[in-house]
Amino acid sequence: MPQKNSSYSLSVEADLAFDREHIWHPYTSMHEPLPVYPVVSAKGVELHLADGRTLIDGMSSWWSAIHGYNHPELNQAATDQIGQMSHVMFGGITHKPAVNLARKLLALTPQNLQHVFFCDSGSVSIEVAIKMAIQYWVAKDRPLKYRLLTVCGGYHGDTFAAMSVCDPEGGMRELFKKVFPAHLFAARPKTRFDEPWVTDDLNEMELLLEAHADELAAVILEPIVQGAGGMWFYHSAYLKGLKQLCEQYDVLLILDEIATGFGRTGRMFAFEHAGITPDILCLGKALTGGYMSLAATLTTSELAGCISSDKKTAGIFMHGPTFMANPLACAIGCASLDLLQSSPWESWVKNIAIRVKQALEPLVRVSGVADVRVLGAIGVVEMQRPVDVAAAQKYFVDNGVWIRPFAKLIYIMPPYVISEDDLGRLTDVMKAFVESC
Ligand SMILES: *Cc1c(COP(=O)(O)O)cnc(C)c1O
Repeated sequence: MPQKNSSYSLSVEADLAFDREHIWHPYTSMHEPLPVYPVVSAKGVELHLADGRTLIDGMSSWWSAIHGYNHPELNQAATDQIGQMSHVMFGGITHKPAVNLARKLLALTPQNLQHVFFCDSGSVSIEVAIKMAIQYWVAKDRPLKYRLLTVCGGYHGDTFAAMSVCDPEGGMRELFKKVFPAHLFAARPKTRFDEPWVTDDLNEMELLLEAHADELAAVILEPIVQGAGGMWFYHSAYLKGLKQLCEQYDVLLILDEIATGFGRTGRMFAFEHAGITPDILCLGKALTGGYMSLAATLTTSELAGCISSDKKTAGIFMHGPTFMANPLACAIGCASLDLLQSSPWESWVKNIAIRVKQALEPLVRVSGVADVRVLGAIGVVEMQRPVDVAAAQKYFVDNGVWIRPFAKLIYIMPPYVISEDDLGRLTDVMKAFVESC
């Protein structure tokens, strides 16, 4: 920990002032930036602030730090790899970290997925997935199949193709919509994860597939959990039925597991709740246990084979980022998967679900609360009105926890390794805040 002497706090003040003047934070204005909290280190499930305070982490740094921070085994993997090489280009070169990570991913995912494209962020893995789907239909001499069908309330990233399939109601998509191709949207799946299934729920999807099959490349959506588009958990029968419809109408299925992958919903991948397999799968976020930016797009031999034998494109798949398969990130990814698979993560996630349910479900009766939902290691309190993020954040920090609400949602998705005491602290503070609203 840094010394709390006066020159240190002066430099923190100077850094904060510089930050306020010059550095953009996610989704913020440069004119009225929300306060930011300087973090100097993190360990286990704790974030250490520059002023000496310690916060219990309820966010896993946006789904990613599933093992907690500063983990000795991940640190070791990073140190070992950096002593070999941090990065080399992937054009014309290969290396153990990439090969090992691809091996592990293929072993972990359904048999039909056989090919891995590594890239540097979740959004890019979505771009890659969309390109794969479009190139597949071009290869099959059906170039008119280039549109996408998705559901409202989705979030797939901030780059252009990813943004074009984000929730149409969100401000972001509206702002740039002139640039997008006209994709198709069905209503958000209505039946809750734990409610009896209502078959009507898929009707609109089916009508759209029927009407547009000839121009649709793929359906893209987040399986079971819609994350940044509203933290909504829908029924597995929706996904199961959708998979059947995609087969029936000859449309590919892209699943975005960037948030849900690697155990968060109680299964290794959320699509396992529905017993289905996608044609294209996007992974990211927790892939390196939150250490490095890395993502992957996996696909089938059918897709890879078709794209690769297309004479029109000389069989080339048209993508190749500079930091593709970054060895440092891949090495940490391997260590993170080993750590996950050698841990009792399923019972950890189950216990988190039980405790978070017990603590949060009674809040549905508190005035101002619209809904409470819990699935796996995700607990959500939806308020009736938008939450004042700056005020909420200050309350949480003053009470020793790191929880960052957005819109009407106050939610936690802690590292799986969190202790019962720390988890209890998170839910206690959440409860106290909601009751004070
Ligand atoms: C975070 C996220 C993305 C985008 O990933 P980035 O690494 O932020 O580009 C895409 N899809 C889902 C479901 C996500 O949660």
